[in-house]
Amino acid sequence: MLKIQQLRVSYGGIQALRGIDLEVPDGKIVTLIGANGAGKSTTLRTISGLVKAESGSIQWNGEELLGKPIDKIISAGIAMSPEGRRVFADLTVLENLKLGAYLRKDKAEIEKDLKWVYELFPRLEERNWQSAGTLSGGEQQMLAVGRALMSRPKLMMLDEPSLGLAPLVVQDIFSIIREINRQGVTVLLIEQNANMALKIADLAYVLETGNITMSGTGAELLANEKIKEAYLGKH
Ligand code: ATP
Repeated sequence: MLKIQQLRVSYGGIQALRGIDLEVPDGKIVTLIGANGAGKSTTLRTISGLVKAESGSIQWNGEELLGKPIDKIISAGIAMSPEGRRVFADLTVLENLKLGAYLRKDKAEIEKDLKWVYELFPRLEERNWQSAGTLSGGEQQMLAVGRALMSRPKLMMLDEPSLGLAPLVVQDIFSIIREINRQGVTVLLIEQNANMALKIADLAYVLETGNITMSGTGAELLANEKIKEAYLGKH
């Protein structure tokens, strides 16, 4: 389980996280919702080791992650599919996927996981040799998720996987997130699409200007009047 306590992060003078507490129990889907600039990406980037914390702690199965280099965090079983897709445009789909496994040496297992990713995303297998930059937005998002899965994570963090995608593609991405979770991967999901995220989440946290202001089950937050008003539009 991932346990964050009193995590503070600043960029220069700007406080992005003001002492947040958050737990991601094994096997669950946990979502973090909040407006633009609330600190959602900062949370994931700090867990990944991309951003330094000012204070607090991030424990992963009892082990402190703060201060550890990125490769150690990946090897400990934590992967992130970043916002904006960030695939390597000039490399093929296959090359992108293989890069996701760059820290692993278990060749036979890597081949197995490649098959696993292709089963989850048959579209990627069809486009094996295509350069990633020429994929559609939805396909690039699938590739970003697939690449993260190639490190065989225990915890998969997804930063806005539905951003900019057509509704049908969003449905596909969400059903794959559920499937990944059903196969035993814990999920920490950041979403602007709060409605869909809360529907699949076991647990949810609301982040507002660097503070966690509410938490509960996905169903509880979906039914909450304040959440409906602030994050769910007319639903
Ligand atoms: P969005 O949904 O718009 O991506 P977010 O909730 O993910 O928002 P963050 O990206 O974590 O929010 O940003 C939190 C705050 O920190 C914002 O005020 C942002 O401008 C600021 N911030 C983020 N990254 C940096 C950076 N590298 N340097 C300076 N300020 C930053």
